[in-house]
Amino acid sequence: MQKALKGRRAFDRKGNVRLGALSLAFFGGLVFLWPALFQIPGLFSGEKAAGALPAVVKVDDGDTVRLSDGTVVRYLGIDTPELAHDGSRPEPFAKAAARENARLVLDKKVRLQTGARLRDPYGRLLAMMYLPDGLCVNGELLDKGLAWCLWFPGDGPAAEDLLPRQRAAMKKGTGVWKGLKERKGAYIGNARTRRFHAAGCPLGKKTARENRVPFASAWEAFWAGHAPCAECLGEWPGR
Ligand SMILES: [Zn+2]
Repeated sequence: MQKALKGRRAFDRKGNVRLGALSLAFFGGLVFLWPALFQIPGLFSGEKAAGALPAVVKVDDGDTVRLSDGTVVRYLGIDTPELAHDGSRPEPFAKAAARENARLVLDKKVRLQTGARLRDPYGRLLAMMYLPDGLCVNGELLDKGLAWCLWFPGDGPAAEDLLPRQRAAMKKGTGVWKGLKERKGAYIGNARTRRFHAAGCPLGKKTARENRVPFASAWEAFWAGHAPCAECLGEWPGR
């Protein structure tokens, strides 16, 4: 009995020492890692000096870029026409969007702002992108009619400022909006997801009655902030 008690005390002492060492390692690690946490682009970049910002080293297309710290950024809240891939032809204005994106950001330092949804299914960081002088790249592409709004829940308040910029480009009839107003056709919108479907799309037909919004044209759907369903309108704006 005595022996067992002694053994337990010895174990307790050892256990305490082990716990002490563990907490030292934990807090030491936290202090060590703290500056690294501030390096995560977009999360704490508001206060960062311009010299410490990452730069864009490669432009993949109209809405995706690579940064000097290795981060791949997919612009939040917008979509741009697809460049050629897997033997398909580039969608109209895809090259113009990629060129304009490169003109705006290539070799420049950038600030990022993320929403609640940090990454897309491909692991790319979803972000609003700003030049150090405050110019919003996502908005610039919309202004020029080279992108349209693509909203997801959790995109954050900055994404809500994008639709007025799209509407201004629609009014001007620039880029992808040229000639769209004259095209008619019935579409079904989903007010919850902010997507619109061709009349025959099974996904559109599945939309709950209370979320259904009928549109008399694609123009109306875009004006309302809905983006085309990738399943039924995938080649947009190739149509
Ligand atoms: Zn659809």
